[in-house]
Amino acid sequence: MSLGEQTKAIHAGEFPNPATGASAPDIVMSTTFITRANTAFSVENMDEGAGWIYTRWGNPTIRQLEEKLAALEEAETAVAFSSGMGAISALLFHLLRAGDHAIVSDVAYAALSELTNELIPALNIEITKVDTSDTEAVQAALQANTRLVYIETPCNPLLRLTDIAAVAEIAHSVGARLAVDSTFATPVATKPLLLGADFVIHSLTKYAGGHGDALGGIVLGSKANLASLRKKTAIRLGGTLSPFNAWLILRGLATLPLRMRVHQDNALKIAAFLEQHPQVKKVIYPGLPSHPQYDLARRQMKNFSGIISFQVENGKEAAQRLAEKLKIIHYAVSLGHHRSLIFYLNSKELFETTFKFSTQKQLDSWNTFAGEGIFRLSVGLENVEDLIADLEQAL
Ligand SMILES: *Cc1c(COP(=O)(O)O)cnc(C)c1O
Repeated sequence: MSLGEQTKAIHAGEFPNPATGASAPDIVMSTTFITRANTAFSVENMDEGAGWIYTRWGNPTIRQLEEKLAALEEAETAVAFSSGMGAISALLFHLLRAGDHAIVSDVAYAALSELTNELIPALNIEITKVDTSDTEAVQAALQANTRLVYIETPCNPLLRLTDIAAVAEIAHSVGARLAVDSTFATPVATKPLLLGADFVIHSLTKYAGGHGDALGGIVLGSKANLASLRKKTAIRLGGTLSPFNAWLILRGLATLPLRMRVHQDNALKIAAFLEQHPQVKKVIYPGLPSHPQYDLARRQMKNFSGIISFQVENGKEAAQRLAEKLKIIHYAVSLGHHRSLIFYLNSKELFETTFKFSTQKQLDSWNTFAGEGIFRLSVGLENVEDLIADLEQAL
């Protein structure tokens, strides 16, 4: 039976405790499980059929979360982590060895950008930062030893898109894998695996959990790829998700399709409001016809999600004003929560700490999307009139 998205969000992956019949999933906090005398002690000899052994290897509450998100993403399976960065760093450690080359989006989540500026190159892994919205630039950056192409779409914080299907074809032409951080899109908008990606990553801290109360991360993909990721890397690096957080995120996921609809509806109205506001110089939102890649957005995103960026004159002073004056919207980092959040990102500061461009074209692309700096507004689920009134009085 092929089920609808909202039905899957509620039921997929969940199994009632056979002893109690409880309808909602249990939180199994036990770190260890009573097992057979012949159970292997090393994960090297892990028997998939042996049942639960130790929570770092696998746990029934975490498994329900992995299976629910796999159902939503139409992935064969998934491995959850203690944070989005836990998921990303495990995947990089798993796929890359000294002497390998990887192509990484020149604008992506700050911690991933910084990790691939310093720590990963120090392991003698060559990284090329490319504007992956430019497929010719991705093609041109390929090398015989390219093992991985890593993209984020829409990317944080620019909301610039990458054509997943086109980049998958380019990566596969040299036998490289494509990993897509789909945190901003969520499976409601885009299913990268169906477009040719090999791995999908989510920071579950954002839309998946949706309530700003649990860190988590996940990697999704094929059974073969993820069995190896779990056994060789995840269990040994140890960034294990807490079963309690898994339960919170599992509960959040149940309403993901419903929430994404309201995030999008609210964001469309706020983007239109900002676009006509005299103080606002530019608004970037994938659902606006003015987005430089609106055609790709319509082709690749079934939902435009809830994040907007906008530019004003004297952004730094405006940030001070908004932080003081906003009454409903929290001036805070992070995104994808039911509460609206806003944060100012200054371009010059980010060029020093995080984003390193090697061509004028890359810098021009940044300037097109972000100018001297942007407000990143994560539109929440409050009544949209209240959010608009809050922005109006603060701007
Ligand atoms: C937040 C975020 C991450 C990192 O997730 P954490 O859970 O904070 O470790 C990775 N990618 C994107 C796009 C994010 O927004």
